[in-house]
Amino acid sequence: MRELLGQPRLIGRLEERLIRGEASHAYLISGPRSIGKHTFALRIAQTLLCQTGRTPGGCGTCLACRKIERGAHPDVRSIERPPDKERISIEQVREMERDLALKPLEGEYRVVIVDDAAELSPDAQHSLLKTLEEPPRHAVLLIITRTPQGIEETIVSRCQPLAMRPVPTQRLRAYLFERTADAELADLVAPLAQGRPGAAIVLAADEAERTRRLAMLDELFDLVGMRLIDRFGFANRAAQAAAKDRPGLEARLTLWLELLRDACVGNAVTPLHPDRVERTTRLAAVAGNRRLARTAALLTRLRDDLDRNSNARTALELLMLDLPYAPEFERAA
Ligand SMILES: [Zn+2]
Repeated sequence: MRELLGQPRLIGRLEERLIRGEASHAYLISGPRSIGKHTFALRIAQTLLCQTGRTPGGCGTCLACRKIERGAHPDVRSIERPPDKERISIEQVREMERDLALKPLEGEYRVVIVDDAAELSPDAQHSLLKTLEEPPRHAVLLIITRTPQGIEETIVSRCQPLAMRPVPTQRLRAYLFERTADAELADLVAPLAQGRPGAAIVLAADEAERTRRLAMLDELFDLVGMRLIDRFGFANRAAQAAAKDRPGLEARLTLWLELLRDACVGNAVTPLHPDRVERTTRLAAVAGNRRLARTAALLTRLRDDLDRNSNARTALELLMLDLPYAPEFERAA
């Protein structure tokens, strides 16, 4: 499918079915932030409604494909949380359902994109469930969310799962080079994007954000060289920042995890952060692989718990206690 990176197996199987006219009534598209879930949903809608017949991902140029791309196709409706509201309301879902019951205006299907289903109010989830139980024949619902754990099990069980995985760094690098024709930029950005095309595009365009991520990588080594009292000071500041910027904290923890992974695996595989290899190797030498693997396991758990709205400060403090200490990493004042 056009501009959809990675996911070859997932997309291959789905395309076959869509092209054969065997679309399911509901799909659950899950995966981390900025991985391309919304783009995936648009490509499914375009595959179903493209005027050139069934082209995987749609042709991208016919009137139907272009209308879908800019959110103007009468048979494709997207429901999202209004920016000034906490939740997607039951009224929004009911309005969508009234619409969905009508015959399609231009194609064979009516497509609904719910983004993000974790933001549906309990009433709205309940109402959506009724549609999923008895969908109109022409209905295809594309339910987007980061992790299926965030929504009602009864909704999950009525959808075909489409779980999107992080895109390999090499693939991201090639994609960035195609877009920017700047090899140096592609080399710099690809390892910072955590397998997420959306993040890669932002980082390629935003130098300040790039600098911030590079600094996040260095923080891990600085922390290893810090005494507990300084680490707690750091945790305190990071927790305050996380109150306004949760994705920033997630990115930070993921980058640290990637460094610990590089340190643990050593020369066995290609490093995720080639520019930091000298320091990850040193870290492994002073702390030991097992010790680092333990910290990595804790870090994974803490990061995944953040998805379930755990307390950022507690998570960071636990991590500060567990990180190995090595004075040679102390930053010269
Ligand atoms: Zn088309």
